[in-house]
Formats: sequence, structure tokens, C-alpha cells
Amino acid sequence: MITIDVILPLAIADTYTYSVPDGVSCPEAGMRVLVPLGRKTITGLVYRKHSQDADDSVWENIRIREIIEVLDSQPIVLPSQLELWRWMADYYLCTLGEVMVAALPARLLDNDYTARTEVYVSLHPRYTDIEQLQSVFDSLKRAPKQARLLEYFLELSDAFDGASHAVEQRQLIEYSGESTAVLRTLVEKQILCTTHEVVSRIPSYDTDIEPAHPLTAQQQRAADEIQAGFNEGKVCLLHGVTSSGKTEVYIHLIRRMLDSGKHVLYLVPEIALTTQLTDRLKHVFGKQLGVYHSRFSDMERVEIYNDLLTSREPKVILSARSGVFLPFANLGLVIVDEEHDSSFKQQDPAPRYHARSVAVVMAHAAQANVLLGTATPAIESYYNASIGKYKLIQMPERYAGLSLPSITIIDLKQQYHRKEMYEHFADPLVERIRGQLAQGKQIIIFLNRRGYAPYISCRKCGYVPKCCNCDVSLTYHKRTNSLVCHYCGYTTTAPTACPNCSGDGVPANNVQRGDSVWRDYGAGTERIEDEVNLLFPEARVARMDMDTTRNKNSHQRLINSFARHEVDILIGTQMVTKGLHFNDVSLVAVLNADSMMQSPDFRSYERAFQMLEQVAGRAGRTGSQGEVIIQSFQPDNPLYAFLREHNYAAFYKEQLKERKAFRFPPFYRLIVLTLKHRDYSRLDSASRELSQRLQTAFGNRCSGIIIPPVARVQNMHLRTIRLRIEANASFTQAKALVTQHIRYVQSLPNCKGTIIQPDVDPM
Ligand code: ADP
Ligand code: ZN
Repeated sequence: MITIDVILPLAIADTYTYSVPDGVSCPEAGMRVLVPLGRKTITGLVYRKHSQDADDSVWENIRIREIIEVLDSQPIVLPSQLELWRWMADYYLCTLGEVMVAALPARLLDNDYTARTEVYVSLHPRYTDIEQLQSVFDSLKRAPKQARLLEYFLELSDAFDGASHAVEQRQLIEYSGESTAVLRTLVEKQILCTTHEVVSRIPSYDTDIEPAHPLTAQQQRAADEIQAGFNEGKVCLLHGVTSSGKTEVYIHLIRRMLDSGKHVLYLVPEIALTTQLTDRLKHVFGKQLGVYHSRFSDMERVEIYNDLLTSREPKVILSARSGVFLPFANLGLVIVDEEHDSSFKQQDPAPRYHARSVAVVMAHAAQANVLLGTATPAIESYYNASIGKYKLIQMPERYAGLSLPSITIIDLKQQYHRKEMYEHFADPLVERIRGQLAQGKQIIIFLNRRGYAPYISCRKCGYVPKCCNCDVSLTYHKRTNSLVCHYCGYTTTAPTACPNCSGDGVPANNVQRGDSVWRDYGAGTERIEDEVNLLFPEARVARMDMDTTRNKNSHQRLINSFARHEVDILIGTQMVTKGLHFNDVSLVAVLNADSMMQSPDFRSYERAFQMLEQVAGRAGRTGSQGEVIIQSFQPDNPLYAFLREHNYAAFYKEQLKERKAFRFPPFYRLIVLTLKHRDYSRLDSASRELSQRLQTAFGNRCSGIIIPPVARVQNMHLRTIRLRIEANASFTQAKALVTQHIRYVQSLPNCKGTIIQPDVDPM
């Protein structure tokens, strides 16, 4: 009997054994098969074939079911990918099935292959550019329904790159609320067309190629040092200040790699995948550039996946973290840009992987090179460089001899004391902003909190509205007059009367403050926007946070309009800190730097430093020196001294001491176990059991039960347990023990149904 191990898209077991019926040739690893599971039929992927001469008697007492059908004639997953999946499942303590679900576009595992016919809508081929549609809209002035449908189509189809993508008809009709008759009219007018297949709209960047910029002396030296590091088989860490021109160095190295016939994977944080970067790359690499983006439809992802699988042409793929799952047959280089960025870590669901670590592993297996680049290295990466595991390359100067921005700290205690504040703005900051506006400059105002006020409370009884699913107070959003939970998304209209004391007033967003029963506390971006509008009525103001960028392209649109200087002041959350280049920004203001350092997380200082240095990096990228103004209640915090000198190395040294003293990475590796249950008593038993067992096994490496700051989310009660394992101890052994104890606890009747999620190297 020929038997095979099949990966199924499930979180239960790693693989499932099936037999291959006589007369069917055995599928290779990486091919899809249709298999029975219970009463269902399900698509799986062959992991491996058992050696043929295994004794059949092994299976005597186990009923092995037969596969139903082999779905591929060629593997769709390469052996190197399967090896990587194996590593990920082992390292991050999850199943191969969970990795597979993350790795493959959903359509490749769709059970119904019996061709589900989906109707797709795309722009009629006579329009090659969305710009040409202006005249179409003019012609639809008297047909508002058609115009509206077309607008919705564009909203859904226009990806970040200005090209128009195919859209599912069903989705378009649902989303627009218009009828298929309206759609039909647009098709008859040859504005849109419908097909049963996706017309490939994946942008092929067949543009005029421009030569890359010649490197500056600093960049050339960096590129040479990196190449030397690669030749020694080292991972290279490029520490270059903001606007030192790291991208130019990448371009140079990518070119070299493509010319030698190899693939390059270029990873960036999701939010940095903007036209700014793609434009720059497409002009240099043209058709050799591919972009893999979460905003693409699943079908488009399949296309990119298959294209890489079947063609051997050298290509550079620009992608967010999920690019590590693409089938590279001939990988030469992986670049992780902004390597410190926490969005490289997948939080939920499993695999909770860090794309930087995965990149290092996949490149090692392929004998490819790895380049990490950033202005603010992760403490772990810089440590790896300091012990010689990585090679460190520095670019301390900005391009074109520009200086790094000057940094001024404003003491809020003093300002409030002297009453030299307008709402949340210190008087000197207001003056600086006014001065910059007068010179026609742009300003970024950074605030790490969205909404209007983090909480409201009743003036009469002090009641604070809380989320019904989570143990947190609701954030007040004025534009929608609603209360929103930032953990689970629960939203409700802000009540007029207090539900607790039934004291009433008028709608909170509708009247002068005194008349509402609610008093609001603290400030989010919405309130700051109001204050800015009052302070600088002549300025054009925009806000960029999760609430203003919900639509597919609004993020891109905001960036474009700010880049075109249609906006003078941009207010935003951390979205404004990442990788953007605006010519006219002279001033960056940070309103509440303290809050970033107050979180109990051991990385809070590291994050604060990175975020401040990055947001500062948006100032003064052309022309004269930029300026950063930070408002703080603790101006003497040593972090500001490091920041003022842009002295990362000194900051790192301080942090490393703390990490060592308090037993944190890079000296210890962490595993955080999150236990969840709707039923509090089961959760309680499970956390006690698990913590006791782990304390016995690991001693003081186990934290005991930790009650998280928000101890109930989406009606699930939460507990965590943290393990710290010495960096030089066997991590594999430790993890095996952990898994064993988790399984045991989950099998206990009084713990039944407890979800236990391991997070290895948590961020
Ligand atoms: P970083 O990624 O280090 O913040 P960028 O790569 O975005 O910096 O470069 C900052 C700016 O300097 C960009 O506008 C870029 O075009 C310009 N620049 C950098 N290096 C060169 C070069 N060698 N020739 C021309 N322009 C350059
Ligand atoms: Zn909630």
C-alpha cells in the first residue's frame, strides 16, 4: 500500500495519512489532493510519501482512507517552501495546516474546483488609464446611478498603483446597492466589461526604464561593505539615518542580483507599500518588478504566485511580510527594509511569525543573502551585529549634506502652570507652526491615539461607559457621535442620557459643551483636528488615522494630496511616521510623547525612540534643516537626550543594560502563552494548572499567572503566562516541554475548551 502524509488546512494535527488507490500514480510532495475527512471532502497538500517498502502490517489496526483525486500534475509548492513551513510550524508552535493557510492564496485551497463561475467586472480595454475616465464621468452627468456605480467600481478596483483591477460582480452590486441593469448599461456603453475570467490587471510595469542614480561616496562605500559581508556569508545590517538614501543602496544591490539571474524579495511594512516607493522602483526595474499586496484580490495573488512558480525570469518582488511565502526557485537576496518595524510580526492568527526571522532562515536555506535596513535598528538586530553574528554597515550622513532635524522639548508642566497653553498646544508650538505656515511650509502633527476622547464620564454620577464585550472604556468619536471599543470594534451611539443615573442633557456632539451630561477626557486625533482648525483657520488640514483610511485607497489619496501640497497640516497616528518622503515638510510636532513610554511593555522605550526618530525623519528632507517639537511632562527623560543628538548607539547601550538586568531579549528568549475562555472558572483552573506545571518544570523562568491590563476581550477572559529561556539554552527542548504541558492541561475535564495560544518571540 502506498501511503502519503497530507497537510490539511486545520489546526489540529500536523499531517494526516491517506493511501493512494491502486492504479493511481503517487502524487509528489507539493501537489494538491482531494481527500475525505469525516463526511466531507477537502483539499489538502501532499507533504511526503511514506517509503514504499514500509511493512503494510503497520496499518493493520488503523483504517487508512484513500485519496479521492490528485489535483495537480506539477507541485504548486516547492520543496524549499515545505522545508520552510516545517521550520515555521516547529519554531512558532503551530501546525503545518496553519502555516499552509497563511502561505497560500485562499483560492488554491478552495474545495470546489469544479469551476465556480464568478463574473468579474473590469474597465473596458479601450481605457488604459483611469485618468481617461474624466470625460466618461462628464458624459454620465444625467445618469447618476451609472456614475455612482462607476465610482464604486473604481473605489473597489483602483489599487494603490493607479491601475484598475478586476472586481467581482457580486461584490460590486452588493457594495454599490445599484442593480445589475445599471451595470448592464455601462457594459453596453463599453465603459465596463464583464468576463468569467479575471482579465489580468496585475500591473506590468512596462515603463521607460531610467538609469538608477549614481551612488554617493557614502552609499558606494556602504554597498561595497555589504557586498563584502555577503561574500563572507553574513547577514548585513545597514544602519543609515533617515534620508541617507538607503533605497538607492538597495536598488544598486538588486540590480546586481537581477543581472546575475536571481530573484530578490524586498520586504517593507504594509503601510509603506505606497506609490512613492513603487513609482521609484518601477522606473528602475520596469517589468522585472512585481508587487504582492494585501489589497490585491485573491485571484490576483494567485496570478503572482503562479507567475513566480512557472517563470524563471529574474524578478524583484516588493511585498509586505507575507512575501516570505512566495515560491522562489532561485532566491538571491532578501531585503528587509525598516527591519525594526513591529508589523513584520504577525499577531493573529497563527503562525505568529516574524518575517525578519523567517527571511533569515529562508535565505540561509537558499544560500541567498540578507540585508536588513533601518535608521533605528531593533535592539536584537543591533546586538546581533555587535557580537559579530551580523555585519554592521553605517551611513551617518543624510543625502545631499542635509542636517538631521533639530529637536526641541517643551516642558508641559511649566506651560500649564503658566497657563501658556491653548487646549493641547503649548504657545511656543503654536507660534512655530504659524511661522512655518507663513513661509508656505507643511507641518505634520503626530498623536498616538485616534478618536475624539479616550473616555467620557457622566458629570453627575461619574459613570464611564464601558464596552459590553471587553473590559475597557469606550472611546468617544465625535464625527459619528459614537462610542467605539478599540479592542473589538463594538460601536454604539453616544447616549444623550446617562444610563446609570439617568441624568440627561443633549447629544454630546451637538451643543456647546456645558449642555451635555458627558464630560470628555484626553485627546485623540479628532479633537486635535478641531483645535487645529480653530487655531489656524487659514490652513488646509487633513487627518490620517484608521478612521479616515478605511476605504481601500484613502490612505494613498491622503498621501498623494499631502505630497502635492494640497494640504498644509497633516494630523495623524503612527501611519504618518513610516517611510514617507514629502518635500515641503519643515516641522514635525509630537503632542503626547510621554504616553508611548508609559506602557508596561519592556519594548516601550525602544518603540518610543524608533517612532520619534522616524517621525522626526519626515522633517527637512529637502532644502533647509527640519525641526521637531516634542511636548512632554518629563522633559528630563534620558530618552530625549539621546534623541536630541540622534545618538542611537548610546540609546542602545542604555537599553541593553536594562534588558540584561531585567532578563529580557536578546539575553533571554520569550514565549508568551495566552489562555482564553468564555467561562471564567475553566480559564482559572487552566491557568492555575498550567502555571503550576510550568513553574515546576522551569522554575523562576516561568512568570506565574499574569492578569493582562485588559483582561476580557470579545467576551473571552484572558490570562497570560510568560516564559523566559536563556539565550544559550536549548530553545527546542523548552518548546517541546511547553507543548507537552499545554496538551495535558487542555485534556483536563475542568479546563475543557480553553484556548492556549503560544507566541514565540512576542512583540
Ligand atoms: P532613506 O530610505 O535612507 O530614508 P531615501 O532612499 O528615501 O532615504 O532617500 C532620500 C532622498 O534622497 C530621496 O528623495 C532620494 O531620491 C534622494 N537620494 C538619495 N540618494 C541619492 C543619489 N545617490 N542620487 C540622487 N538622489 C538621491
Ligand atoms: Zn470591545
